Amino acid sequence: MNESLKILYLAAEAAPYVKVGGLGDVSSSLPRALIELNDTNHNEFKIDIRLVIPFHGGIKQRGYPLEEYFQFSMDVEKQDIPITVYKTVLGKLPVFLISAPMIDVDGPVYTSEPEGDGYKFTLFSLAALEFVRQIEWKPDILHVNDWHTSPAAYAVYINKYKDLFFENIAIVLGVHNLPFLGVGAGTVLKKFDLIPAYNTDLPRWAQDAPLALGLLSADKIVTVSPSYAQEILTPEYSSGLYYFLLSRADDILGILNGLDIDCWNPETDQNLYKNYNLMKLSNREENKADLQRELNLPINADIPILAVVSRMDQQKGIDLVFPALNQLSQSSSERYQTWQMVILGTGNPSLEVMARQLEAKYPEKIRALIRFDTELSHRIYAGADMLLIPSRYEPCGLTQMIAMHYGCIPIARATGGLRDTIVDYDQSRERGNGFLFEKALAKDFSDTLQRAFNNYSSKNDWRTLQINGMKADFSWQQSARQYLHLYQSLINKNSRLIK
Ligand code: ADP
Repeated sequence: MNESLKILYLAAEAAPYVKVGGLGDVSSSLPRALIELNDTNHNEFKIDIRLVIPFHGGIKQRGYPLEEYFQFSMDVEKQDIPITVYKTVLGKLPVFLISAPMIDVDGPVYTSEPEGDGYKFTLFSLAALEFVRQIEWKPDILHVNDWHTSPAAYAVYINKYKDLFFENIAIVLGVHNLPFLGVGAGTVLKKFDLIPAYNTDLPRWAQDAPLALGLLSADKIVTVSPSYAQEILTPEYSSGLYYFLLSRADDILGILNGLDIDCWNPETDQNLYKNYNLMKLSNREENKADLQRELNLPINADIPILAVVSRMDQQKGIDLVFPALNQLSQSSSERYQTWQMVILGTGNPSLEVMARQLEAKYPEKIRALIRFDTELSHRIYAGADMLLIPSRYEPCGLTQMIAMHYGCIPIARATGGLRDTIVDYDQSRERGNGFLFEKALAKDFSDTLQRAFNNYSSKNDWRTLQINGMKADFSWQQSARQYLHLYQSLINKNSRLIK
């Protein structure tokens, strides 16, 4: 294996350094899974993938061991911007962190200020390209993700015939959340000599939106689930880019995200009260009791615990949880009124207020924890019985996979990756691992909760659901292979020898 396939993987966040949502999970798991394919020795070449992320202020504070690796400067509007690149490794994966004024500032990874974020991520994207040029490491594949790193794709796209370094670099764009196009960030692109894309099928308003430019530039567009790849080609889900996306339909595909099994493994998870697996599922009950204790709820194995672990956002359909629970509570059947619930999430202030109000209305059974708490999230997956995911749209979703892997049953809307990973138990007893509803309506959600409660009352059915979920293979290996085939097809298309 002397030849190598060089992949430059850019993302705004990567766990464990910085994680806001699923993108942070994927951008650390997928590159590592690709590198691990080298060990299987079935490839005719060595995968040389390098992850580059911004050195956000929060990373600095956490004090990871980092080596100062390289320095250079960039000219932006006739000003020299000093760039420092730090290096570390995540398993076998080389990770580079790009530091510059405006990047390593304290504060959140994403703000609601498009120009500030636009500047930060465009500077990062172009600095990452300049970095690999300076160290003379020319990638075969540039893999960018979402709007934040799309400026790198666009820079390669518009300069590939002028700049030898960019020639023959194939571009892959990962779409984790289409509606976040980066609109408003476009005004700063000009500062970096990235002019709007006139004369294209893009609607006028999108001609300087970073993600739209990424979609224009990419050789292949990969959504994080097959269903989402189909959905973004419909008027409802195409975020105003319907005709443009249709024109790119042949280059759009979906590859389901995997789960980082090292991080999410009930057998070894250090955050749990008691570890368990399929063979020792009874140990799970101790985690349930522990969770009830931690949340100061009545300790009772027979009361189902419902959970929400989510960003508080319209996308996630959190607003449907409240009327659905009210409907459930108004039911005449005792069965539908006997439950406990924990909500763990932050985000939209009005949804946070609704969660607190719900807790105030049902203080004996609901806990609303308005914060980001990774450790507690592990204990919730291990102790709760049902995870509620009523998303309006869900590009892939990791929480349902984590939940199933931990024996917690997802109750979800049939959209995107939720549709691809969850099989409704009432449709198939052999394969069913959760419950799905079609329309984003509180009534449908509450009816589906009732179906779940009916099955919860049968220990055998519930055990079957748990076993079906825990047996599923959500590991990254399979998805990593699909990405590898995709990279190979692009290289072959460019008919280049890999050096
Ligand atoms: P998205 O990326 O759209 O936010 P995903 O389901 O793909 O949704 O990934 C969400 C990830 O963030 C999961 O790992 C979930 O456990 C985690 N998460 C979400 N909210 C919280 C929270 N409040 N505290 C801890 N972890 C959270």
